[in-house]
Amino acid sequence: MRYLVFLLPLAASAQVLNVTVLDYASVPPATLAAAREVFTSIYRKAGGQVQWTVETRVWRPDQTVRLADVPGDIVLRICTEEMAKSLVRKETILGYVQPSAERELARVATVFYHRVEDLKAATGSTPAQVLGTALAHELGHLLLGKGAHSRAGIMRCPWDTQELRAIHRGQLVFDRRQSLTIVNSIAARTGLTMAANAFAAGPGR
Ligand SMILES: [Zn+2]
Repeated sequence: MRYLVFLLPLAASAQVLNVTVLDYASVPPATLAAAREVFTSIYRKAGGQVQWTVETRVWRPDQTVRLADVPGDIVLRICTEEMAKSLVRKETILGYVQPSAERELARVATVFYHRVEDLKAATGSTPAQVLGTALAHELGHLLLGKGAHSRAGIMRCPWDTQELRAIHRGQLVFDRRQSLTIVNSIAARTGLTMAANAFAAGPGR
């Protein structure tokens, strides 16, 4: 009986993916709030529920951050141009996924805010539209796994005129096949987190 009482509240929140957004780029709060709407709406259309929590961070080149210690199922970083110079070879990329240790699921991805600003200027979209969609693309990599890029749509790389126009209209979303994988992947990831929480809570208490 004690076991059953313990499981019920966890099961109720099983399908919600907890995403922790680390904002290193001092994104204006209104832009972040609007980007969150764009992001959660893209996942809602795919049939998945995501919960987004923002933490503001300050980057120091000499400091190592243990991303494994950041709470949540997924960690999405919004990084600056200065960070891009030390993190990636090509400063023109919009984002990337942090490789995971062997036999672990990747859970960290990054979007560069200066590239969001570039695309915003090129498309006439708001920074929130581009940021929310770019974060959705990077989370798409984590949930869809290898070979996530597609010939068209939100997982196209790089986005072409058609995709950039669709961002502006709020219509750049996952297709049906991608949506199905995303829903399954969220269920698997939140299931894993539940198991980890149950384990961390310790048996027989
Ligand atoms: Zn990509």
